[in-house]
Amino acid sequence: MSRSVSLPAPVTTRPDQPYIRLRDLEHDLAARVDGEVRFDPGSRGAYSTDGSNYRQVPLGVVVPRTLDAAVEAIAVCREHRAPVTSRGGGTSLAGQTCNAAVVIDWSKYCDHLVSVDAAARTCVVEPGIVLDVLNEKLAGTGLMFGPRPSTHSQCTLGGMIGNNSCGSTAQAYGKTADNVSRLEILTYDGVRMWVGATDEQEYARILAAGGRDARIYRELREIVDTHAEQIRRRFPDIPRRVSGYNLDQLLPGGAFHLARALVGSEGTLVTVLRAELRLVPAPKAESLVLLGYHDIAAAADAVPPIADHHPLQLEGVDDRLVSFERRKGMHPGALAKLPEGGGWLMVSFGADSQREADDRARALTDALNGTEHAPHIAFFDDEKTEKHLWEVRESGLGATARVPGMRETWEGWEDSAVPPERLGDYLRDLRALFEEFDYGDAALYGHFGQGCVHTRIPFDLLTADGIASFLAFLERASDLVIAYGGSLSGEHGDGQSRGRLLPKMFGADVMTAFEQVKAVFDPADRMNPGKIVAPYRIEENLRLGTGWTPADPSVHFGYPDDEGSFQRALMRCVGVGQCRRHSGGVMCPSYRATGEEEHSTRGRARLLFEMLGGHADSTVRDGWRSAAVRDALDLCLACKGCKHDCPMDVDMATYKAEFLSHHYAGRPRPAAHYAMGWLPLWARLAALTPRTVNALTHAPGVAGLAKRLGGIEAARPVPYFAGMRFTDWYRSRGPRGDGGRGPVLLWPDTFTDNLSPQIGHAAVEVLEAAGYRVLIPPRTLCCGLTWISTGQLGVARRVLRRTVRTLAPLLRRGIPIVGLEPSCAAVFRDDAAGLFPHDRDVARLGEQTRTLAELLAGTDGWQPPRIDRTALSQPHCHQHAVLGYDTDRDLLARAGIHLEAVGGCCGLAGDFGFTAGHLKVSMACAEQELLPAVRAADPDTLILADGFSCRTQIEQAGVGRQALHLAEILAAAQRGDNLGAYPERRIGRRPGPLQTLHDRS
Ligand SMILES: Cc1cc2nc3c(=O)[nH]c(=O)nc-3n(C[C@H](O)[C@H](O)[C@H](O)COP(=O)(O)OP(=O)(O)OC[C@H]3O[C@@H](n4cnc5c(N)ncnc54)[C@H](O)[C@@H]3O)c2cc1C
Ligand code: SF4
Ligand code: SF4
Repeated sequence: MSRSVSLPAPVTTRPDQPYIRLRDLEHDLAARVDGEVRFDPGSRGAYSTDGSNYRQVPLGVVVPRTLDAAVEAIAVCREHRAPVTSRGGGTSLAGQTCNAAVVIDWSKYCDHLVSVDAAARTCVVEPGIVLDVLNEKLAGTGLMFGPRPSTHSQCTLGGMIGNNSCGSTAQAYGKTADNVSRLEILTYDGVRMWVGATDEQEYARILAAGGRDARIYRELREIVDTHAEQIRRRFPDIPRRVSGYNLDQLLPGGAFHLARALVGSEGTLVTVLRAELRLVPAPKAESLVLLGYHDIAAAADAVPPIADHHPLQLEGVDDRLVSFERRKGMHPGALAKLPEGGGWLMVSFGADSQREADDRARALTDALNGTEHAPHIAFFDDEKTEKHLWEVRESGLGATARVPGMRETWEGWEDSAVPPERLGDYLRDLRALFEEFDYGDAALYGHFGQGCVHTRIPFDLLTADGIASFLAFLERASDLVIAYGGSLSGEHGDGQSRGRLLPKMFGADVMTAFEQVKAVFDPADRMNPGKIVAPYRIEENLRLGTGWTPADPSVHFGYPDDEGSFQRALMRCVGVGQCRRHSGGVMCPSYRATGEEEHSTRGRARLLFEMLGGHADSTVRDGWRSAAVRDALDLCLACKGCKHDCPMDVDMATYKAEFLSHHYAGRPRPAAHYAMGWLPLWARLAALTPRTVNALTHAPGVAGLAKRLGGIEAARPVPYFAGMRFTDWYRSRGPRGDGGRGPVLLWPDTFTDNLSPQIGHAAVEVLEAAGYRVLIPPRTLCCGLTWISTGQLGVARRVLRRTVRTLAPLLRRGIPIVGLEPSCAAVFRDDAAGLFPHDRDVARLGEQTRTLAELLAGTDGWQPPRIDRTALSQPHCHQHAVLGYDTDRDLLARAGIHLEAVGGCCGLAGDFGFTAGHLKVSMACAEQELLPAVRAADPDTLILADGFSCRTQIEQAGVGRQALHLAEILAAAQRGDNLGAYPERRIGRRPGPLQTLHDRS
């Protein structure tokens, strides 16, 4: 081997940040890049953190529309000497996606599946494609990408390649590096080429062609050949060595696989433009065995012989994780299925048929039953139960991040890995170390089949002593894992968390090789600087840290689960990024519609966090008056999807209301806040002369002007007010039936009372037939919803207080309140307690409020009428998030209804869809699940939606169907009405003619 190659100087220290004229950089990017260029405080704040403990404000953000646009963006950065950091889902846990750099977000546009070669079992992707989306697109081929991190619904292939991601299925399929065939890469200095395995012929061809490509290959070979012996010695031979650069892929005698060597380089060497991936056959059936052991270390001891059965997944979960989930009320059904024990292994088998998968599982259980310390065993082979059981493991972070009554936990030692056969002893020693540092609360779980352990530790990252202890722990823990022949990172990568510890693991010689490799690709350290090599100190750039002095402002809501502190509430978001999922649940409709970080729950939470200030470089400097925060919250539908779906229970609807109340304190609000926030008052006035109001709000010219003045979307028809309000009808009609079951108060919310009185009529019929005596309030009252959602919290409190005072006598007698409109019932059950945390009558109001389904289901002897047909239901977001929909499902099933429930949000969400400027996002939300399902529904299918917004969205979308409320279909079935095709045409007569959106061009 020639030693004549002169190598660039290794990158050992971070060069000083060059002076960059930000305005010029922004200008040039905007002028030359086809994409979005954002240097505004909102975007910079939203991208300042990822899933880690770190925070660095980017110079700006570029969202390229195409790969070529990204190449151009990097060329511009190069001309300005600006550093660059790539970002996919931003779910990294070691700080590798936050940097004082130009952040390139691949996830919005560069997310295509470029090609699939099913015969060769390969595909080519752009870096922004999300793993679940890729696998969904591949479903028809029977193939999939093998490695599957827990973040599969939001992590991108670019990020997986950046981090060399693994996940539970790496047990069967290996790490991302093992599943990448070729990469198209771009260096900071502009070399764009495909790389992969390089045989001698190819190597010779590249060298002969000369140029920068040849230099890269020659220098890499020189470095690896020089350090080959140390690389062989210092790289642990374990399944989960993720730390460091994959120089083992370039060792002499191997494939010189440059693509695989670059996997895991965390954007510090090259930018990945496209990837050719190896695919594997997707198992057609799976079965799951749960094994209960005395404790987690005993479970780990049992791993090696189980791994010999070649399972698809072999995961471990300890009793702390299980107890945290119990305490948080997570997965109660699944937890009840765990066999006896204090530490569990979850072992799954995949196969082409259920029988084959079951046989493989049985072979394992038979083998275990014969052993001396046989575990407790449970076996499952139905998909739904297996999915719920896997959620116990996959929600590890959500379960451990903030447990009531315990210290908050953080990443920092989240994914160490050791040889699987030594895992039990490692866990015993690690637990002893936890105890020594007073971190004993930490739970242990992870990919035990491959020796990788997850944990979040109650580090104190706020005080000098706490941080000193954190650093001391890391020193000891890294010594421990190295003594076991392990890797500092077994999954999440090094980033900033591990960079400074790498010399311990790899030694000076291999570190020099890493630094030389960095110099080959990026000698000036412009690619994600400060991560892996020449790293920042572990305690630099902490999101908290001793220098963080945020405001803790006085607020309107009580935040009882956050010790009354808005600051603590805003610290809930840990950056997991589940709010960037593309399907499932409700969260976050505005992200799904826009693909924008700033319009995800996480982006909003980050900006609110920035608003509290406390960092010298906080991007939001004008507190509650911030336009950047207001703009990020503008597209929040206040659907409360996050309150239910976010593992940390981030409740953005409440934070938005809180923000708006302060933002507009003492100054004029947008017209829509007066037009729609005060709807209950306008409805009351309209009730004096509804025909005139209807004529005016639908008269050409007048209607347009009124909408313009009221900040209402021009294309949205204004709903018709009823000729007679529900409450007026009921007062004139009076109660009927014997009322033998006693009184219930039917809550006449503004929507039912004024806009859909037919639903109130139907509910009276149903309740009276069930034996109840229906009461209505003695005067017009309101829950305050519209004032809450527009952040007019002073009025909301006054309105609610008046309601509670009026209802107090009924509440104190224990009379149930039946809410027909889910969002109003949700105010009683949820927001009211936030506004009046210590009021007993408000607590009673929450406890006594029932949905119609809940009241009827709890009525002894009541049987629903037979309906016997299919129904398509859009559960209201607040049913999903606050009230629950299971009782409705059971009731409908008892009525003989085959229910198909749609997920997601309808997109109208109260005032949101009516507000000028929101139409596009509103309809995009509706088009995700609801409208396609309604269009596809058979004419005999009942379309069911309890929310006024959901019904209005369906009607105005002009899909030829209208939705009915549960009360309407129960009443019709009770009467024995023939529902026929398009049942809504026979029942549920609403005020005014059908209305669809005006010209939407
Ligand atoms: C709760 C939780 C659970 C997790 N579970 C797992 C798990 O089971 N297994 C696992 O492996 N990881 C896990 N992770 C870590 C993380 O989710 C994965 O590493 C994931 O694959 C990262 O994908 P991403 O799209 O979010 O990447 P990002 O975080 O956006 O980026 C990751 C790295 O890739 C680089 N990068 C992104 N795009 C490019 C590009 N085009 N060119 C060059 N570099 C690029 C980035 O600069 C960064 O260094 C978990 C994280 C969390 C928060
Ligand atoms: S808002 Fe919730 S789901 Fe989204 S990143 Fe934060 S913690 Fe995760
Ligand atoms: S309330 Fe809805 S739209 Fe707003 S952040 Fe939460 S999930 Fe997203």
